Amino acid sequence: MLFGIFVILMPTAIWLILHLMSRRENDSESEGPTEAIEVCAICQEEFPISQLLEKEVGEYGRVYCFCGQCIENLYQEYQNTTDPKTGE
Ligand SMILES: [Zn+2]
Repeated sequence: MLFGIFVILMPTAIWLILHLMSRRENDSESEGPTEAIEVCAICQEEFPISQLLEKEVGEYGRVYCFCGQCIENLYQEYQNTTDPKTGE
């Protein structure tokens, strides 16, 4: 009985995943042929734009991209240089 449910559910789940994935690909295709690649402003590594945080920096509103690892590193650095009790 359990195996029967499994056999029915698995193809349905796989079909759903494939269906969602192909729909997402179609969505990105309407924006552009390939996903945009940007360089992280800190480590200079290339990442798909979806994995980067875009921030306007400075009075000219220049947009910089930051990758998750660099944000993590900055946060760690911030934690190490500021005292959580006094905020100094
Ligand atoms: Zn980076």
